[in-house]
Amino acid sequence: MNAKLDSGVTTRPVTRQTFDEVLVPTYAPAAMVPVRAAGLEVWDQEGKRYLDFTSGIAVTSLGHAHPGVVDALTRQINTLWHLGNGYTNEPVLRLATALTEATFADRAFFCNSGAEANEAALKLARKYAHTKFGPHKSRIVSCLSSFHGRTLFTVSVGGQPKYTEGFEPLPQELSHIPYNDIEAARAAITDDVAAVIVEPIQGEGGVIPGDKQYLKALREFCDATGALLVFDEVQSGVGRTGSLYAYQQMDVTPDILTSAKALGNGYPIGAMLTTEAIAQHFGVGTHGTTYGGNPLAATVGLKVVETISQPAFLERVVQASAKIFGNLEQLSADYPQVFGKPRGMGLLIGLPMAEACKGRSKDYTKLAEKLGLMLLIAGPDVVRLAPALVVSDEQILEADRLMREAVEAFVAG
Ligand SMILES: *Cc1c(COP(=O)(O)O)cnc(C)c1O
Repeated sequence: MNAKLDSGVTTRPVTRQTFDEVLVPTYAPAAMVPVRAAGLEVWDQEGKRYLDFTSGIAVTSLGHAHPGVVDALTRQINTLWHLGNGYTNEPVLRLATALTEATFADRAFFCNSGAEANEAALKLARKYAHTKFGPHKSRIVSCLSSFHGRTLFTVSVGGQPKYTEGFEPLPQELSHIPYNDIEAARAAITDDVAAVIVEPIQGEGGVIPGDKQYLKALREFCDATGALLVFDEVQSGVGRTGSLYAYQQMDVTPDILTSAKALGNGYPIGAMLTTEAIAQHFGVGTHGTTYGGNPLAATVGLKVVETISQPAFLERVVQASAKIFGNLEQLSADYPQVFGKPRGMGLLIGLPMAEACKGRSKDYTKLAEKLGLMLLIAGPDVVRLAPALVVSDEQILEADRLMREAVEAFVAG
């Protein structure tokens, strides 16, 4: 039955309604369906234009359809797509070289997403601890309200119990501690801990920057117990905070760093970076993935890293950040009944809802979207801004105007 595909299936009109008919309902996408985008502009099926201050959740950091990325990928598409891990390829060799030269790391492992990068990091940390210290050293310590992905291991390590409900039995030997609480970390990081995983700035958990002193203390407790320190920079990495990776502004060096999201500017890629000594514990056959480090993803990653790590590019991120922070501080001062003080780093910015408007971040972003501005939330209490790092001063002004119009509409109704 139905062996033959209806020849009209590729041209039949599709709408937002189609989503509710044929997709597994894990998401509740917006009412409009985007069809085209360039830079920070997006157009929907009706031809309506939006200013994108989401970057697809901190992913398209060079903007949509960035000409340099399009050109590099197009050339690679016409050259070599895929070989499998029985062969290496030039783009992945170049990308690994670029990433190790630009960071603390000596070695890179590539995969296809942030969850997979964290999965690799956690598996490597356990392997390292078991080999070096014995099987008793297997505990993973992570933070409450953290987010590390949706595989069973990473979602269990993540600090949001609502995401693991119903998926039991969960992986064992996991502990969750409050973020930015040094005493809780001191108590939790005992001799049986294999790894501590932390976001230098919590993204999904509400855009909460880690205190330098806290991250330094984690480093100290890890050194004292032989645990590995893993920085999840899936959201904070690749220029988002004004340095290539956020740890570079924190005076703390992790043992393992994970990267994804912006590394591919929308093309799926993940990376786990680590030192020579630790990498040796992932010998031939211990871990792998079919697509990891394929020529297409690696070509995009290389172009992205090359572009973003230019000092002038990163200086502009810091400058754009200061402008947006200035605007948001003024907005929150003008509407203290709606918004609290903005927080974050670089162009990863959270604007918390004031006490009286708790739980209503989505109501606000929906109003902004109607007016033509795409914004994110970070939970029900925080509006999140993550524009492409190439955002112009004019776009910053336009976003400010639209956010003010949206807050007027919010207050009115
Ligand atoms: C998005 C995110 C992940 C998960 O990445 P996926 O590509 O969705 O698997 C992990 N950690 C952090 C900090 C993230 O923001």
